[in-house]
Amino acid sequence: MRGRPHPDHLCGKRCNDDTTGGPLRHRHMISMAPGRCGRGPLSRKVEDYLEAIFRVAREKGYARTSDVAKELSVSPSSVVEMFQKLGHMGLVTYRRYEGVTLTPEGRSIAEVIVYRHETLKGFLSLIGVPERIAEEDACFMEHELHSETIERVRELVECLERSPAFKTEFEAFIKTREFERDRSGRR
Ligand code: MN
Repeated sequence: MRGRPHPDHLCGKRCNDDTTGGPLRHRHMISMAPGRCGRGPLSRKVEDYLEAIFRVAREKGYARTSDVAKELSVSPSSVVEMFQKLGHMGLVTYRRYEGVTLTPEGRSIAEVIVYRHETLKGFLSLIGVPERIAEEDACFMEHELHSETIERVRELVECLERSPAFKTEFEAFIKTREFERDRSGRR
């Protein structure tokens, strides 16, 4: 199994959310481990960029503007703007015309997001959510959930994957429910 990022990378602080004006559990849960908490929580957008850069760079070693723009379905000029911002934050090294590489700090944050993404996608796939929806929903939830929840989900998936009976039983259960819904729909 891959090494897990330290769960303390993730905190579930409460804050006043600018968009709703109300107190919310912080939507942007990445922060540095205790003792390294020099940085406040990051925005979802920053997290998405770090994740995309990580995915692109995993294949090529570095991430070009055009590849990240494609990965996130945004314009190259927004990517350049964000690359500069991430550079100022010390999360990437930006070279004009070449693209970016993650700094060790940027990389450790990206690894947490990717870990969250894979955990949640694994869970959604396990319960039979179609691939495209699992991908989209994982990308939404990865920013939102407490690290405690992510860990329990991880353990649940690991545990259920060891039980072949579960998959058979759950699939049969879903079929029964679909059958019942179809029947009551026809009445
Ligand atoms: Mn994602």
